[in-house]
Amino acid sequence: QSQELSQARIDYHAALLALQEHGTRMVCTGKMHTDRICRFDYLCYCTEAEEFVFFHSNSSFMLPNLGPRRFQPALLDLSSVEDHNTQYFNFLELPAAALKFMPKPVFVPDVTLILNRFNPDNLMHVFHDDLLPIFYTMRQYSDLDDEARLVFMEGWGEGAHFDLYRLLSSKQPLLKEQLRNFGKLMCFTKSYVGLSKMTTWYQYGFVQPQGPKANILVSGNEIRQFASSLMEKLNITTRGEESVAEKKDEYFVVFSRSINRLILNEAELILALVQEFQMRAVTVSLEEQNFPRIVKVISGASILVSMHGAQLVSSLFLPRGAVVVELFPYAVNPEQYTPYKTLASLPGMDLQYVAWRNMVEENSVPYPERPWEQGGIAHLDKEEQDHILTSKEVPRHLCCRNPEWLYRIYQDTIVDIPSLLEALRAIVKTRPNLKKAKPASTVHPGRVREPQCQTSVQATNEAKLTVSWQIPWNLKYLKVREVKYEVWIQEQGENTYMPYILPHQNYTFSENIKPFTTYLVWVRCIFNKHLLGPFADVLMCRT
Ligand code: UDP
Repeated sequence: QSQELSQARIDYHAALLALQEHGTRMVCTGKMHTDRICRFDYLCYCTEAEEFVFFHSNSSFMLPNLGPRRFQPALLDLSSVEDHNTQYFNFLELPAAALKFMPKPVFVPDVTLILNRFNPDNLMHVFHDDLLPIFYTMRQYSDLDDEARLVFMEGWGEGAHFDLYRLLSSKQPLLKEQLRNFGKLMCFTKSYVGLSKMTTWYQYGFVQPQGPKANILVSGNEIRQFASSLMEKLNITTRGEESVAEKKDEYFVVFSRSINRLILNEAELILALVQEFQMRAVTVSLEEQNFPRIVKVISGASILVSMHGAQLVSSLFLPRGAVVVELFPYAVNPEQYTPYKTLASLPGMDLQYVAWRNMVEENSVPYPERPWEQGGIAHLDKEEQDHILTSKEVPRHLCCRNPEWLYRIYQDTIVDIPSLLEALRAIVKTRPNLKKAKPASTVHPGRVREPQCQTSVQATNEAKLTVSWQIPWNLKYLKVREVKYEVWIQEQGENTYMPYILPHQNYTFSENIKPFTTYLVWVRCIFNKHLLGPFADVLMCRT
């Protein structure tokens, strides 16, 4: 693919005039640097200084116009990882008049998305931090279409999975190091800077121990739409589309690691699983198959078994109803490392998840002599080494260089087969049939309509309150298995309420209803136990 930015496609003279006259223009979304994405006309990049440049002219603008707060700490995050201090974006300012004294700019005609990849050699990071956020940032801005140009500013080389980034647009992505080939001053005609964080589900433990993000905004639907789009570009058809798969075609996949964190009795494990589930086994590894092949295999699998590790992000290609089995080495508590559990458990992902943990120290092989980043501890003083060697569980810790964590997570494991089978049996028995696993409805009820109350006083200490309402407007277009209503009743001035779940569209309350009292009443509709609708406007009911 050509790296040329065809200058013929734009009128160079007109572009230069526009830059000189209008300077740079910026409008951003987001209140904070952590949720900001900016759109620029004529944002420039000086390859010698390695700085973005904003040219001020009489008609340039900058929104938000933060003044020096632009540096507190930054205008925005250039990667999808929240507030990481190595991933900040900012620009230098110059008057447009300075252009006269600067090298002639090279214009980039494509609509460009400028970002940092976070860790392009690690498959989990590639999907979670880069591919999904890029994919959905492109869907947020309609001019970031298939012709858009991606520019990766983190400064890494292509990395192990560059082909995956290539799938996101028809143009070759550019790396920071390549920009200097184009000249000393590059100006992006139209660009977006930053990434949506809407699709990320995990925080890696930079400020608090790792875990699911506090406010997850993505569901299985968006993950699966992304997966389908990628599979389409890889020319992979899913089994469901191909044919009515026979039961005997079911298989499980063991995704193995061949360099470290090994399953030492993999052959024995596979035999036991074949026996147990009466299914074929397929093994894959990043070292032995290309990624499209792996996706193809996983997209038809009933069960995916793997050691904890980045390769498990590939479970986003599993069919609905499949089971993810994550194996953890000795002394590593599965509850504290849940990127893949969280993924599998996203609503609408429709995957089952089982963690298994090696509880037998003799079944683990550690590597104290290896370099620290592969879990070696030889560099530590004796006392610290002894402490790590005798510890039975890695305590909670921050990312990324905790030696005890690295020591334990890079152990090899002999999987105790009876205990794994036991953990699996409970789940796999209750597994919904793969072929029947259809996406559950996510249509929420509307408000109930025309809510009303009627009251009557029976005696000095006896009263009745009848509440009635009409079905939500959207219900008449839907097939809903179970429709229920929830009514909350609060005596005016009290701070507690009584909730009731009701099957019909009216109900007369007499218990706990007092005469000559005002009650506040809220009503909402619930589909299939979980899909809550909004409350109708509060009713004031005076007995
Ligand atoms: N990897 C692999 N086989 C191995 C070791 C690593 O495929 O034997 C891959 C792994 O899936 C990830 C990358 O190499 O994409 C970096 O692995 P690392 O152990 O650093 O990260 P982790 O898997 O713990 O996230």
